[in-house]
Amino acid sequence: MINVTKPFLPPKEEYDEYLKGIWSREWLTNNGPLLNELELQLKKFLDVPHLFYVTNGTIALQLAIKVLGLKGEIITTPFSFVATSSSIVWEGCKPVFVDIDPATYNINPALIEDAITPQTSAILATHVFGNPCEIKDIEAIADKHNLKVIFDGAHAFGSSYKNRSVFHYGDISTLSFHATKLFHTIEGGAIVTHDAVVAKEIAHMRNFGFAGPDNFHGLGINGKNCEFHAAMGLCNLKYINQILERRQQLWERYNYMLLSLKVGKPIRNPLPGFNFAYYPVLFESEAVLLKNIRALQGIYVHPRRYFYPSLETLNYILPKQEVKISSDVASRVLCLPLYHDLSMEEVDMICRALLRSQNY
Ligand SMILES: *Cc1c(COP(=O)(O)O)cnc(C)c1O
Repeated sequence: MINVTKPFLPPKEEYDEYLKGIWSREWLTNNGPLLNELELQLKKFLDVPHLFYVTNGTIALQLAIKVLGLKGEIITTPFSFVATSSSIVWEGCKPVFVDIDPATYNINPALIEDAITPQTSAILATHVFGNPCEIKDIEAIADKHNLKVIFDGAHAFGSSYKNRSVFHYGDISTLSFHATKLFHTIEGGAIVTHDAVVAKEIAHMRNFGFAGPDNFHGLGINGKNCEFHAAMGLCNLKYINQILERRQQLWERYNYMLLSLKVGKPIRNPLPGFNFAYYPVLFESEAVLLKNIRALQGIYVHPRRYFYPSLETLNYILPKQEVKISSDVASRVLCLPLYHDLSMEEVDMICRALLRSQNY
C-alpha cells in the first residue's frame, strides 16, 4: 500500500544513542539538553534568531495569535489545513477569508485590502504546499494598515523567498513537525520571530507563564515539547538534505511522466528554494478527481484531498462566507504520494494508472 506520505525514520541505533543519554540524565522534559540542541540547530538551519520548539503546529499558531494580542478579525486563507482557521476561532477571533490566487493556491494579495475593516488586526497566510506566499506584497499591505503578519509555514520547511529562508519574514511564523511533514519529530512544531520582546513573551507563555519556580510572568499554557521528540528531530535533521534531494528527483519524475495528463499544477514561486513538499494536481472536475482516486485505490495507492473542504464551509464559521476560487480548487485538487523512499517505479506505476484513467 502506498499512502500520500510516509514518515522518515532514522536508523534505530541513532535514536537508541539519544535514548541512552536520556536514561543516564533522567531528564525527560522541561527544556532539557536535547530540546536546547534541537532549537539551536533549527535556528541555524532556518536562519532565524528566535525559535521555540513546541508541542505541535496548532499550539504554535494559537501562541502566535495570543502573544501578538490579536483581537477582532484576522484575514486568512480558506485553502489550508483546518488548524489555520480553527486556531483563529479558538483564540476568540473571527477568520475573514480572502480568496486564493488560482495560479499558486496561496492567498491573493490583490484581494486583501478590500477585506480590511476597522476590526482587522492581522493577516494569517499559509505557504501552501511549500510554495512561498507573495510575502513582500502582504507585508506592504500590513505596514500600510498597521496589521500584524503571521505565516503558517507548516509546509515550508526548507523553502526560501528572495534568497532567504521563508521564516525570515513576518512578525511570527509557525511550523509543524508532525509525522506527516517533510521534517518531523513525531509530534511537534515551532514558533519563530525576529522580535526579542515577542520572543521573551513566547518563552514564558509556552511554559504556563512561569517566570521562576514560584512566580508567574503572565497567562500561559503548556506548549512545551519533550526530550524524546527532540531526539527524533536531531536524528532526522542529519538527513534533511538527502530527503530534500530525493523529493526533488521524485517531483521531477512526476513532471516528466505526467506531461500528457490533462491536469493543472500550481505555479511554483520562480525563485530557487522550493522544498518539494507535496505533488498536487488539479483535475478538470470533481467527478474526474473521484474517478482518478478510485483508479489509484484499485492499485492500493491512497492519495489525499489536500485541502478539502475549503475552510469557509466549516460549520463554526458564521456568518457564511463565499470564496469561489478556493472552493473550486479544493473540490478538484489531489496530492499524489511523495516521500523519501518512494521508488521511481512506484511513481511510474501511479502515473500510468492516472494516464489510463484519463483515456478510458
Ligand atoms: C499540519 C498543519 C498544521 C498543524 O500542525 P500540527 O503539528 O498537526 O498541529 C497547521 N497548518 C498547516 C498548513 C498544516 O499543514
